[in-house]
Amino acid sequence: MTQAHPHEVSTCPACRLIDKIDGLEDGEMFKLGHWEVANEHQRFERLRAVEDRTADRITKFAGSLKFVYLHTVWFGVWIALNVGLIGLGAEFDKFPFGLLTMIVSLEAIFLATFVMVSQNRQALRSEVRAQVDFESNLQSLIWSIHIGQKLGLDIEHIERLCRDVVGESRAKR
Ligand SMILES: [Zn+2]
Repeated sequence: MTQAHPHEVSTCPACRLIDKIDGLEDGEMFKLGHWEVANEHQRFERLRAVEDRTADRITKFAGSLKFVYLHTVWFGVWIALNVGLIGLGAEFDKFPFGLLTMIVSLEAIFLATFVMVSQNRQALRSEVRAQVDFESNLQSLIWSIHIGQKLGLDIEHIERLCRDVVGESRAKR
């Protein structure tokens, strides 16, 4: 799948032009390590895992102001209750609030993990998207060159121009 059959390259004028693009006329159109359309579906399936989506939801909530308000109220009530400000006589976690400290530490550990799961998922999603983009660009390139060749355009001139423009844009970065 990585390359067209050498025989096919030698008989199709457009493919011969594509062969020349990488500077080597070797009968191999492209040397690509990762050309995996078949894998695509599987990888999207992986993205739909329930645990991953739950991690996304938790991370989204933890990154909201609602989360801050909820904790402010929780800490406020907890501390007020335990220093005797509310005066119910229900001081179950006296200063320095050991139970609260333990609960919040555990919460922090789980939240950190959820954030990382969520980040990994986002990274995987971008990777799959980039791969799909790359494959469709490659298809467009092959189609364009075949159409251009049929129309009698000077493909090598266009390629030279493309290389110059791309090179210039890279140099600016
Ligand atoms: Zn061809």
